[in-house]
Amino acid sequence: MNITEILNKIGPSTLRRAQGSGTLGYTKEDLKTLLAAEGEDKKLLFAKALQSKLEHLDNYVHLRGLIEYSNVCTKYCLYCGVRSKNPNFERYTLSDEEVIECAKLAHELGYGSVALQSGERSDAAFVDKITYLVQEIKKIDNGSLGITLSLGEQTEETYRRWFEAGAHRYLLRIEASNEELYYKIHPRDEKHDFQTRLNCIDTLLKLGYQTGTGVMVGLPFQTLDDLADDLLFFKQKDVAMVGMGPFIPHPDTPLWQYRDQIPSAEQRMELTLKMIATLRLMMPEINMVAATANQTVDPQGREKAIAVGANVIMPNLTPNEFRENYLIYPDKACVNDKPDQCQTCLDVRLAAIGHKVLYNAWGDSVAFTKKH
Ligand code: SAH
Repeated sequence: MNITEILNKIGPSTLRRAQGSGTLGYTKEDLKTLLAAEGEDKKLLFAKALQSKLEHLDNYVHLRGLIEYSNVCTKYCLYCGVRSKNPNFERYTLSDEEVIECAKLAHELGYGSVALQSGERSDAAFVDKITYLVQEIKKIDNGSLGITLSLGEQTEETYRRWFEAGAHRYLLRIEASNEELYYKIHPRDEKHDFQTRLNCIDTLLKLGYQTGTGVMVGLPFQTLDDLADDLLFFKQKDVAMVGMGPFIPHPDTPLWQYRDQIPSAEQRMELTLKMIATLRLMMPEINMVAATANQTVDPQGREKAIAVGANVIMPNLTPNEFRENYLIYPDKACVNDKPDQCQTCLDVRLAAIGHKVLYNAWGDSVAFTKKH
């Protein structure tokens, strides 16, 4: 089947019918063809994805003020710069006041939501602290800020406590939905168990979080088959949000040794865009983030992601002095930007591609809102 036939097959209206009849409406082969599209075919894919997004979600971009709460981590994922086994930088945890100040700033800037992200800890003190911080953030202007958490794998009890405290979205990327690949990018031990990660995603969905997941694109050993399966995984789990960004090798991690065996930065970027565009056609109403990793690989990376189907950006609100210690990957974009500069920069950049920020709104996933 050629690209036009496939695109017509999985176009929005066909997809709605297919969903109604309980089938997926496309095959893994179709997805692989889309992910391999080049030249005119690729342009067609991108154009169709943008059209689908504008039809379903208009040209709005939602913001989540990102607060990188702590780089203390108990895990040692093979790709991540803040893994516990990297001694080459200082560990920090923001104070309560710093977190609340960041959240207030998000509110003042009209961001509508904050996202609290951190290295992974699950001890009682950490769980209590996050519960407290969520409650405090909720007090700002009578609960006007939406709260997304991205704090790794936790027990059902913990996820429930944080939900009851007021968090309503949770990001937990599966990183790789193929178990074999998962263990090539994580140590094979009880701290990095694939089944546990899957169970966590199911628990978040069950508890009623707007649940987000995602993968890195261009990992060593990753194939187009894997990426097509990742897309099918998102669809099958019927998640509300997805985040995908190019893998960026970090010199202090074990995967650094494969840096010459992965696609070039440009190819990883292009593949990420094709993943975003294809998923937009498959899941027209979910929230999809234009990850900062895109901008690190390509100065225009975030706008490019928005222009092919993403609709969320997470501007960094972490106090500047800590940002250089939250380097999950090297050369992270915006490490030296100040929040107000960041806002002007975003407005201008988005206007240039015919989009605009929807200020002072939570910007919930339309897919999720309709389902519930
Ligand atoms: N501890 C939290 C947050 C992790 S950081 C958790 O486990 O969910 C957020 C995301 O950054 C990760 O899910 C991963 O997909 C991405 N990431 C980590 N290292 C990266 C790298 N070297 N290149 C690109 N993305 C990376």
